[in-house]
Amino acid sequence: MYWAKEIEEMSRDQLQALQLKKLREVMARAMRSDFYQRKFEQAGLTPDDIGSIGDVTKIPFTVKDDLRDNYPYGLLTVPHKDLVRMHASSGTTGRPTVIFHTIEDIRSWADLMARSLAAAGCTPEDVFQNMTTYGMFTGGLGLHYGAETLGMLIIPASAGNTDRQIKLMQDFKTTVIHATPSYALHIGDVMQAKGYDPHQFGIRIAVLGAEPYSASTAAKLDETFGFTAINSYGLSEMNGPGVAFECARREGMHIWEDAYIAEIIDPLTGQPLPDGEEGELVLTTLDRRAMPIIRYRTRDLTSFVDAPCSCGRTHRLLTRFKGRSDDMLIVSGVNIFPSQIEHILMEFPEVGTNYQIVLEREKALDRMIVKVELMPEAFTGDIKDLNNIRKRMGESMRSGLLVRPDVELLEPGTLPVAQGKAVRVIDNRKL
Ligand code: ADP
Ligand code: ZN
Repeated sequence: MYWAKEIEEMSRDQLQALQLKKLREVMARAMRSDFYQRKFEQAGLTPDDIGSIGDVTKIPFTVKDDLRDNYPYGLLTVPHKDLVRMHASSGTTGRPTVIFHTIEDIRSWADLMARSLAAAGCTPEDVFQNMTTYGMFTGGLGLHYGAETLGMLIIPASAGNTDRQIKLMQDFKTTVIHATPSYALHIGDVMQAKGYDPHQFGIRIAVLGAEPYSASTAAKLDETFGFTAINSYGLSEMNGPGVAFECARREGMHIWEDAYIAEIIDPLTGQPLPDGEEGELVLTTLDRRAMPIIRYRTRDLTSFVDAPCSCGRTHRLLTRFKGRSDDMLIVSGVNIFPSQIEHILMEFPEVGTNYQIVLEREKALDRMIVKVELMPEAFTGDIKDLNNIRKRMGESMRSGLLVRPDVELLEPGTLPVAQGKAVRVIDNRKL
């Protein structure tokens, strides 16, 4: 189903022409803020210097510290009376940053969200249970406004209280859920512990985002619940969710290019990378009024899929995010992303729904401990079986990561469950 068929199927040429026009306009608007006026002046740049979409690379980057240094109002381009809402990042990597919106901003964000949900297969017939935090975090209200714009019946459950979430699903016959992938895994565990088969709830679609998760985790969730897990990507600096979203075909996440310019750069040199190569995503808001952000370095690592989506939408596809450039762990000199560990673990059918990576330094040597919950069936009563799983996991990780961690096997429900973004890594080496 299409929400904005004309835009979603626009030819690449038309799309780029639209981007160019909007880029020049957004630069002119941005120059009303103290921050961009200074930045463009220093670079000796005006909108007239942008003659083609490729000229976007002439514009200097904006980074998270720019938002922090100009906190709270330094990037505003409209008078205060035009502002209607503020949101903040969840602050995963330091002081949260704040973003302001006009009513037009809120409406165009809701429209992008409605488009995303429709592309995923949601319709006004659906009952949508929104299980992420409402408030300054963008996931709750972002999806809420989008689902309402699409005309779904919304249960604004917010995060947490799993027993109540399950009851709401039963009472109102929820067909679509929105959660973090780690929380969805937890709900599956709780359902099973209560003697339910998660399939019996009849959930068709799960919109899952806010943190990286592997394709094997998505497949595991699909199998547990019988729904289709849809990957949803966004960040508060670019509104929040609705930046890139899987359609029902799930060949990658469509980045909505009428609203954002996406580039992928080498994080070390800042130079653009050829399509298909993995690097850091850089984004420009094309529609935002209150607080446009141009060439924002997201620190999120992904690549463009080198082929168009079979659904017919022309907006390019991004691959599943590997994590953030600052998620990378250096263990005994080897670079490891937590997502690589997740990928290896989820290949084991015995693995349950939660894991954690702990790093210690002992006598100047790094030690990595992977704590992993197993499915109840894995506990056969025979210690040999557990030793065997531990050994196979250790070997898989050594050949996949070049570092052999200590594997600690745990019973289901042992590790803490986050209501928001999961905390996967505990690095005690810095202490
Ligand atoms: P922060 O976590 O930086 O405080 P946000 O709450 O705005 O701020 O979260 C945005 C970040 O969450 C993104 O930059 C990205 O790192 C991560 N993220 C969001 N959705 C996904 C996804 N589907 N896959 C991987 N990472 C995601
Ligand atoms: Zn598609």
